[in-house]
Amino acid sequence: MNQEKVNIGVIGVGHLGRWHVQQLKNIPQANLVGFYDTSQERCQAIQNEFNLPAFKEINQLLNNCQAVSIVTPTTTHFEYAQLALEQKKHVFIEKPITETVEQGEKLVSMADKSHLKLQVGHIERFNPAILALEGRDINPLFIESHRLSTFNPRGTDVAVVLDLMIHDIDLILSFIPSPVKTIDASGVSIISSSEDIANCRINFENGAVANVTASRISNRKMRKMRFFQPNAYISVDFLEGVSEVYELADPQIPAKGGNMAISFGKLGEGKNSKEIRYTRFEKKDINPLQYELSLFVNSILNDTAPAVDGRQGVRALQVANAILKNIEEHAQVVQNFWGLQSGS
Ligand code: NAD
Repeated sequence: MNQEKVNIGVIGVGHLGRWHVQQLKNIPQANLVGFYDTSQERCQAIQNEFNLPAFKEINQLLNNCQAVSIVTPTTTHFEYAQLALEQKKHVFIEKPITETVEQGEKLVSMADKSHLKLQVGHIERFNPAILALEGRDINPLFIESHRLSTFNPRGTDVAVVLDLMIHDIDLILSFIPSPVKTIDASGVSIISSSEDIANCRINFENGAVANVTASRISNRKMRKMRFFQPNAYISVDFLEGVSEVYELADPQIPAKGGNMAISFGKLGEGKNSKEIRYTRFEKKDINPLQYELSLFVNSILNDTAPAVDGRQGVRALQVANAILKNIEEHAQVVQNFWGLQSGS
């Protein structure tokens, strides 16, 4: 595309959509033409804050842009993405891509047929802690992941698996290059009508295993992922934006990347002893949302593949759905057991 800027609009300017507006304004290659939202109150608030036109009809917005960012509730993602793709607009869509896998697949096929970009907002791919690890070999055999958050009614229209765990599912799928073999999951609904806490063990065909926990009823936040692989243990802290690597290493060979490396210990004695090296990785001054949106805009301008394409969004949704199905089956077993115990 022989042009310097992409005309883009935002659909849905609630909690996250407001941040999309703010960050798109900071991207030099993006020309934010305006937004659309069904709430008059939100339209007024965003218009006042950013001095930006609120379009009264969705088609008016679409007529004025080449690309849209869809930040409405998940139940409406498909409707808007389909409309935008039909009108030959590139689409950035928040996670989860759609409510159903079939809808996601339809969007992928529409985007493919019309050579349009379809990027999904799996923002943790662009967390500074993950970006800081770029260039390092990550080939985990075991992953332990915890995403714990305090209760917030926003997002509780869907189970915690689709609201929070899907971030980790997407990341894990991006690090383990193998199909999923089996899933063993359980979850409990405590405050909302769907699961508020869930855990699953995902077994991959290459033998790797991921143990994933997500909760939205914790009393404090934690977002960590730990990778265990031959010769190394890598700990990623998404909240701090820092990754730490502990590895068996020859002290004569300098660590790759990282901003602090200290050989901090030895395992064993004498000539059989091994050095353990600790390296801390962090990347400062990166705003993940601005970065992922700028990658989307650049993929349009340079006609390159989106950073997280629709197929990856669908795959994360497929695994999330399989986890939800497994949770349901597990709950049925529990219910049957207690039903029998009480003699009913
Ligand atoms: P929100 O409820 O704060 O905002 C949704 C906005 O969409 C509201 O302003 C509402 O008025 C508007 N809206 C509702 N129905 C509409 C319709 N039919 N047409 C046009 N506008 C409509 O929700 P949110 O927390 O901003 O979440 C929005 C999306 O972003 C969801 O899909 C959610 O899963 C996703 N999300 C992603 C992340 C992330 O980390 N990537 C974080 C939070 C939310």
